[in-house]
Amino acid sequence: MATSRIHNFINGTWKAAPSDDWFESRNPAHPGEVIGVFPQSGAADIEEAVVSANRAHEGWRAMGLVKRAEYLLRVARLMEEDTEPLARLLAQEAGKQINEARADVVEAIHTAQYAFSFGHLGQYGRVLGDEVSTKRCYEILEPRGVVVAITPWNFPVALPFWLTGLSLVLGNCVILKPSEYTPMCGARIAGYFEKAGTPPGVFQVVQGFGDTAGAPLVSHPQTHVVLFTGSYEVGLRIKQEVAKHAHKVCTIETGGKNAVLVMEDANLDMAVTASVLSAFKTSGQRCVTAGRLLVDSRAVDRFRDRFVAVARRVTVGEPMDEGIFYGTMINQQGVEKGRRFNEMAKKEGFEILLDRNIEPPPTPDGYWLKPFVYTGAWRSDSVCLTEEAFSPHVAVVPVRGVEEAVAVYNDTKYGLSGSIITEDYRKAKYAEEHMKCGIFYWNLPCIGAGVRLPFGGVKQSGNLIPSAAGLIPVLTHPKAVTYNLDTQIVMAQGLSTEIK
Ligand code: NAD
Repeated sequence: MATSRIHNFINGTWKAAPSDDWFESRNPAHPGEVIGVFPQSGAADIEEAVVSANRAHEGWRAMGLVKRAEYLLRVARLMEEDTEPLARLLAQEAGKQINEARADVVEAIHTAQYAFSFGHLGQYGRVLGDEVSTKRCYEILEPRGVVVAITPWNFPVALPFWLTGLSLVLGNCVILKPSEYTPMCGARIAGYFEKAGTPPGVFQVVQGFGDTAGAPLVSHPQTHVVLFTGSYEVGLRIKQEVAKHAHKVCTIETGGKNAVLVMEDANLDMAVTASVLSAFKTSGQRCVTAGRLLVDSRAVDRFRDRFVAVARRVTVGEPMDEGIFYGTMINQQGVEKGRRFNEMAKKEGFEILLDRNIEPPPTPDGYWLKPFVYTGAWRSDSVCLTEEAFSPHVAVVPVRGVEEAVAVYNDTKYGLSGSIITEDYRKAKYAEEHMKCGIFYWNLPCIGAGVRLPFGGVKQSGNLIPSAAGLIPVLTHPKAVTYNLDTQIVMAQGLSTEIK
C-alpha cells in the first residue's frame, strides 16, 4: 500500500499498534483515492491509552484552570494558521463542500477559544451563604477524570472540540475516538495538541471501529465520562453500558426529524432560504437537517412552487468547488439509506414534487444524492415523514395555523431542532413555548449552532444533557466545602452540640 500509515496518538507519541489490522479512509467523491491508512485499534491499544490518561490526570489537574486553558489557546492558534489546509482535508475526507468545511474548522477554533476564555475567567464554582453566619460555604468543581469522546463523521473537526475543549480546561484528560470515516481529521487534531506541547496522556486519539475501539473505551472501568455524538441506536447502547458503572456518566447526542414551520404571514424569501439551507446543507447529513417543512395551507401553494424551483437549481458536485451548494454523501450505505427513503415516499403514496436522482452523478464512482421533495397530508404512521433519512429528502406538509404546525412538529419520537418563519411574535412565542425540542430558532434555518449555547435534544434526540457550553455539570463533580470561622461549633437547623 503506497499511502502512509498513521498511528494512534497515545501518551504523547505516534504509537504503532500491537496488531497488524488496518483500515483505509477514502475520498467519498472519488472512492478510489485513499487518504490514509489507520490502525483498527483493539483492547491492547485502549488499555494503553486509558492507563496513560489516568497517569497524566493528577499532574494536569494540579496545573490549574488558567494554565490548562492556555493550551487550548495555543491549539486554536495552530488551527487558525492551518485553516485552509485543514478545511481542504476535511472536504476531501468527509465530502463537505469547501465553504462548509471552512465553517466546520472555524467552529472548532471558536470552541477552543471559548474553552480558553472560560478557563481564563477562572470561575469554577460558587460561594454560598449559610444560616450560621460564621461559616463560609462554597462549591468547587472537581474534574471527573478520564473523558472518552466518541464522534461521528459529519462534523469531524468541530465536534471533537465541542466535546474536548471544556473537558480539558476543567482538568480532565481526553481520549478521542473519531469516526472511522474521518480518521485523518482526528489525526490532524492530535497533531495540534502535540505541537502545542500538551503533556503526554492528556489528549489522545485512538482510531478504529465502534465495536472494537469505541465499546471497550465505554466499558473500561478506568474511564469516567463518555461523551457520545452519533446515531440513536449506538447512543442507547452506550447509555445502557454506562448505567452498569456507578461512577460513570454519559451524554448522548443523537438524531432528529427536524422541521421548519412556515406561517401564512412569513416573509417568503426568508422561508425559502431557511428551508433550502435546513434541508440540503451537508447533503441533508446534519443531525439538525429539516426533513419536514410544515407550511400553513393558506401559503403552501406559493411556498411549494418557489421552494421546488430553488431545489431544482441547487448545485451538487465536487466538494472543493467553491461554486457548488453541497457535496457528497459519506458512503454507499448513506446513498442506499437515502434511496430507500425516496422509494418509501413513493410507496407510501405521497406526491413527488422533485426527484433529481435521474440526473447524471457529478463523478461516476462518487457517493451522490440529489434533492428529493414530496408532499402530502401529515400521517404519524408514515415512516419517511417521521424517521431520520440523513439525506437530501424533504417533505412539504400543509398544516392549519401555528397550533397544528406545533402539534405535527411534536408528533415524532425525536426533538432536536426546529424553527418558525413568521412576522408575528405571538406565533413565534407560542412555538418557542410548545415545541418539544432542544434548539429553537425564529426566522432562521433550523441548522447553524453557536458554540456559546447548549446543544442537545429531547426525546430520542439525546439524554437531555446538552453538549458544548452545556457540558460543565457532566465534566465536573461539585464538591461542597464548609469552613468554620468561629472558635466553637454551631450546627445548622438548630442541631444541639451538647454532649450528654
Ligand atoms: P454512528 O452512531 O454510526 O457512529 C458515531 C460514532 O460512534 C463513530 O465514531 C462510531 O465508530 C462509534 N460507534 C459505533 N458503534 C459503537 C459502539 N458500539 N460503541 C461505541 N462507539 C461506537 O453515527 P454516524 O453515522 O457517524 O453519524 C450520523 C448520526 O449522528 C446521525 O444519526 C446524526 O443525526 C447523528 N449526529 C448527531 C449530532 C448531535 O449533536 N445530536 C451531531 C452530528 C451527528
